[in-house]
Amino acid sequence: MKVLDLHCLQQHVFEGWFASEDDFQSQLSRSLVQCPVCGDTSITKRLSAPRLNLGARPEPGPAPQASASAPAGQGPAKAEIEALPAQSRERLQALQASWLRWSREVARQSEDVGERFAEEARRMHYGEIDERSIRGQATAEQAMELLDEGIAVMPLALPESSSETLQ
Ligand SMILES: [Zn+2]
Repeated sequence: MKVLDLHCLQQHVFEGWFASEDDFQSQLSRSLVQCPVCGDTSITKRLSAPRLNLGARPEPGPAPQASASAPAGQGPAKAEIEALPAQSRERLQALQASWLRWSREVARQSEDVGERFAEEARRMHYGEIDERSIRGQATAEQAMELLDEGIAVMPLALPESSSETLQ
């Protein structure tokens, strides 16, 4: 298991876990490595990799796949390590899929009130109109005001393509 320090074009720094350097390169080439902050897929590896598992021979230069094996006697069993990459990939995909499903569900079940979002949310909160699921646009300022008044709002970034992606 390799922990890489990565950053995107906007210089957001984050950690990525990969089975090996090859695994990272392969995910990178398929745009599967995304900045968790802005979703950018132009990801660069930072030069430092403090938790890189070098095993017994910290030789510089290419050592393909070598970092995937754990030092004997510590860390998770080999089988577990081999199981991890596929598992975490599946888990990530499952997460993304369920998030998309959920976003679509919210979009489907809620009424789009557009720019009247803050107003509608407030009227609902104060019982002027019946509660229902709404979505719409609010500025950060409006959202803060709503939260200040104890009105629960949730930022929901609906992917542009949420109606057609994923099968
Ligand atoms: Zn970013």
